[in-house]
Amino acid sequence: VSVREPLVGGLDVGGTKILGRVLDPHDPRATVAEVRVGTPRGAAAILDAIAEVVARLQAAPAVRERGELAAVGVGMPGLVDRRGVLRFAPNLPGVAELAVGPALSERLGLPVVVDNDANCAAWCEFRLGAAVGVRDVVLVTLGTGIGAGIIADGRLYEGANGFAGEPGHMVVDPSGPPCPCGRRGCWERFASGSGLGRLGRDAAAAGRAPAVVALAGGDPEGVRGEHVTEAALGGDADALGILREFAWWVALGLANLVDLLDCELIVVGGGLADAGEHLLEPVRTAFHSLVLASDHRPPVPVVGAALGPEAGAIGAALLASERLV
Ligand SMILES: [Zn+2]
Repeated sequence: VSVREPLVGGLDVGGTKILGRVLDPHDPRATVAEVRVGTPRGAAAILDAIAEVVARLQAAPAVRERGELAAVGVGMPGLVDRRGVLRFAPNLPGVAELAVGPALSERLGLPVVVDNDANCAAWCEFRLGAAVGVRDVVLVTLGTGIGAGIIADGRLYEGANGFAGEPGHMVVDPSGPPCPCGRRGCWERFASGSGLGRLGRDAAAAGRAPAVVALAGGDPEGVRGEHVTEAALGGDADALGILREFAWWVALGLANLVDLLDCELIVVGGGLADAGEHLLEPVRTAFHSLVLASDHRPPVPVVGAALGPEAGAIGAALLASERLV
């Protein structure tokens, strides 16, 4: 006879997909049930899709057998205020001022905690992953854009409104390329997958990096970040050179963060972390040359994330269970 117990669900709402999972309360790295759907366009459709994911998790046989959902955490890509309202989401076209928390809580009849997606991933790495036991740490996720979460003195740093931790939109070049946030030269234009793709296309246009161009189907204009990463993982010298150039931009933002926050560890996640040491090693070298007073402060390790693409959903559930259950 199974003992019924309160379960907590976590959802990670991304630009392209929504991942939902129910954590095993005895081993939060393990999953009781998992659901994935594509992210639809438009605010109402996104709320419907989130509610559908929760309904499917509630209906999953393993969940019904174990107990029932007592709370849900949701990670959203953008600025989320302390009432759970998604105020600004540059990568969800047409979505702003969306009352995700209040609307879902009423619709589902469940307590709902909403936070920024990278804050959720940072909390997951802090509780279960690469930052366990570290009190001052920043997680940056390098994907299509840059997400970040700041743990300061063992707590998630939210800021006055809940908007803290958006270093991807710190301007590092006021005359740089335009950003979906409406400004120019944000760090994520240089240090995300789109930044790596741009460096790759620049190299291709200059007649360099034939192996990268081949992976892009022979079209220099078609080069994207993942083509550079893939060629670098295969040992291509040109691709490794592009990755080193890219690493300088990553390190520039990380050095600024450490100058500001004095963290003791940096965790790098997101799709680009798949490049592993090919990326992290040149990032460490450049970071040492860029951070303030590097010879007079303890070294700041830069390590890869431990939990992978599920970290956001797991972290959302952990935040919900710690705040509510
Ligand atoms: Zn921006």
